[in-house]
Amino acid sequence: MAYQALYRVFRPQQFKDVIGQDAITTTLKNALIEQQTSHAYLFCGPRGTGKTSVAKILAKALNCRHIEAGEPDNTCDLCVAINNGSMTDVIEIDAASNNGVDEIRDIRDKAKYAPTEGKTKVYIIDEVHMLSTGAFNALLKTLEEPPAHVVFILATTEPQKIPATIISRTQRFDFRRITADDIVKRMQFILDDKKITYDDQALMVIAKAAEGGMRDALSILDQVLAFGQDHVTVENALDVTGGAAVVQLGEYLQHVAENDTAAALTTIEQLLASGKDAGRLIDDLIGYLRDLLVYQQAPALVNDTASALQDSHFKALADQFKPTQLYHMIAVLNATQGQLRLTNSPTLYLEVATVQLGQPVPQVVPAQAPVASAEVKQLEQTVAKLAKQIQTLQQGAPAATVPQSKPTTLAHQASRCPRKRFIRSSAPRRRKILKRSRRFGRTCCRCCPCRIRR
Ligand SMILES: [Zn+2]
Repeated sequence: MAYQALYRVFRPQQFKDVIGQDAITTTLKNALIEQQTSHAYLFCGPRGTGKTSVAKILAKALNCRHIEAGEPDNTCDLCVAINNGSMTDVIEIDAASNNGVDEIRDIRDKAKYAPTEGKTKVYIIDEVHMLSTGAFNALLKTLEEPPAHVVFILATTEPQKIPATIISRTQRFDFRRITADDIVKRMQFILDDKKITYDDQALMVIAKAAEGGMRDALSILDQVLAFGQDHVTVENALDVTGGAAVVQLGEYLQHVAENDTAAALTTIEQLLASGKDAGRLIDDLIGYLRDLLVYQQAPALVNDTASALQDSHFKALADQFKPTQLYHMIAVLNATQGQLRLTNSPTLYLEVATVQLGQPVPQVVPAQAPVASAEVKQLEQTVAKLAKQIQTLQQGAPAATVPQSKPTTLAHQASRCPRKRFIRSSAPRRRKILKRSRRFGRTCCRCCPCRIRR
């Protein structure tokens, strides 16, 4: 028989086999026990988290002849037929390739007929978010008034693309990403079953690379097994996932800690030359730095499976780096990660980041404060100097101009002001002035005697 991928061979056959989705499987089992199953379900969640597997188990449980505590027995003819894919009442549709109105109308028309073999007709529509608007509307009608013997199970990785009118007619279950520990346990079970030996660290490397998807993890495990038979080694796992060995990461950070940029650059070059992916390398480095930070704050929280702990440099680095330095390094690597998405030459950015990390960071960060305060002091002195100059100018100006020019002009004006002269003068003189003022008319100054006269 042709080789079958691990994830197909070890697909969960009962609710109890499903890893990391206890809330969902318990709810479904209880609904089956109490015979209160819904007519439509919506399974959302990232890829490889068990949506299709749970849909198939539910389809079996709805049809099984000897259902026990909500679990299908997997031995009756209907369970076997569903497992083989030969059961005509369980219809799997890939909405990515059957996304038109016609396909959904076809489903609607056929759903009317009673199941031929089992008790319930189950439609499993995968990637349901790919349906066209018209198809969704056609499905809406069927979901609204479903025949009693039909159950719809819609599965999607992108629930936000599904109309609210569809979601409100279904029971929604959100599948979580599976934790690395759960993935490791499942891989241990599979490898023990196949009597293959393994390094624990290798399984952790695979689980981390899978990012919460069991199918991804088992696919990688398949590749690692193909790479090196009989034993799963850390080296093979790292080669397949493109990850860097923790020892190399430790060495690299040791060079950074010693401000030995040349050695750090050489390590990076070696890592990249051996085929490691730059993006993955940065991920691993950030993970290592995170472990260092957590270890400094709460050593108990870094569990034994943490890859970094396996490195001989780890504890020395935890003593050498200050938290501020670690924050700075994580920030630099994060920024580089963002730049990597926009560039075709990731190596370049990685080298620049290495140089940045190799700089004496702790000296730079606190040194910025004195530099800034020194600048502020200099500016303050300059401002004070300027203020003084302005003050002396202001003081100097009245002393130079006002006593010399203004008073003289005022005195001059006073002496020439006809009104003042008029007031100061004697009565006969005033009469004379008044007489003469007629000659000035109104052309004289404002305080002209002629105005007084008026
Ligand atoms: Zn059965």
